[in-house]
Amino acid sequence: RPVLGLESSCDETAAAVLAPDGAILAELVLSQLDEHARFGGVVPEIAARAHLAHLPGLARRAMAEAGLGFADLGGVAATSGPGLIGGLIVGASLGKGIALAHGLPFVAVNHLEAHALTARLPGLVEGGVEFPYLLLLLSGGHCQCVAVEGVGRYRRLGTTLDDAVGEAFDKSAKLLGLPWPGGPALERLAESGDPARFRLPAPMVGRPGCDFSFSGLKTAVAQHVAREAGEDGTMAERTRADLAAAFQAAVATALADRAANALAMLPAARGVVVAGGVAANGAVRRALAAVAERGGARLVAPPVRLCTDNAVMVAWAGIERLRLGLAGPPDEALGHAPRPRWPLDEMTAA
Ligand code: ATP
Ligand code: MG
Ligand code: FE
Repeated sequence: RPVLGLESSCDETAAAVLAPDGAILAELVLSQLDEHARFGGVVPEIAARAHLAHLPGLARRAMAEAGLGFADLGGVAATSGPGLIGGLIVGASLGKGIALAHGLPFVAVNHLEAHALTARLPGLVEGGVEFPYLLLLLSGGHCQCVAVEGVGRYRRLGTTLDDAVGEAFDKSAKLLGLPWPGGPALERLAESGDPARFRLPAPMVGRPGCDFSFSGLKTAVAQHVAREAGEDGTMAERTRADLAAAFQAAVATALADRAANALAMLPAARGVVVAGGVAANGAVRRALAAVAERGGARLVAPPVRLCTDNAVMVAWAGIERLRLGLAGPPDEALGHAPRPRWPLDEMTAA
């Protein structure tokens, strides 16, 4: 029977209903961008209140769009970590309430696992993706290379030593005078820029392993901005575009280098799966596609709406866990306390 998924770990409020075979029956996302934009980042308290105000209604609407009542469900899956605790409590509590009221299994979903398993949604990728595959999670809050060896079987191969890549986009965009969230705006600005005019360091390139580091790159952007800006603090449009292009090229080079090392650490992988908002970036996608091809694998890039935070992936992770009997006994699932930190290698597996 269908599963209701709820997502509220960061700044997207989302609900989705999936059939057991993965068919999407309803899919709703409310972004809180406008509420956070004037603060230049996600404000946890505002996020939690917005989830509280919108998630219950969104869940009802998703059910109505799917043409189902709660009693028709086979389970409820809610993101229960990692993320901002206020939002996690809202989503998990709502999910548990629905499950309790209708005698349904509840699945406490790990947000990172949901990103990791999205590519397995039937119909998304022709021929499907087989285990093991390499996951590159590239978002505002996460930056990791993960070996995905089965449902619940993950090995983190590398992570960021400082900023996440999306965070680096946002901070550099801010230095270039772009509004938050800066990733998409920076990509647009970079289109008219010359990536060769400024030399920016591609961090970690040539080093062993697949850890990331982006704070030095951001500092380099800041130094160029300080040098190029006029007395009123503004820069010529062409200079801004050239800096944006140089930054984006450095990031793509760094990600490609790290991904190549990660792929070498998982030689059996035939797929490189990207997730997270930065996977929307064209230069990043092109660089990673080339790495995958050189490594005898293919780049699997789900549509952007399923790369960023959404509830389809949460419902799907719930379906995968329920099918394998990995959702845990009902009392344990209902007693699961949302976790702000919940590393992937702490997941249960068959
Ligand atoms: P979490 O990390 O918890 O999943 P998040 O909200 O930070 O949450 P996403 O919503 O997946 O993550 O991604 C948002 C990030 O992706 C932001 O940092 C944003 O700037 C970046 N981003 C979005 N589009 C692009 C793009 N076209 N190019 C570069 N970065 C982008
Ligand atoms: Mg987000
Ligand atoms: Fe996410």
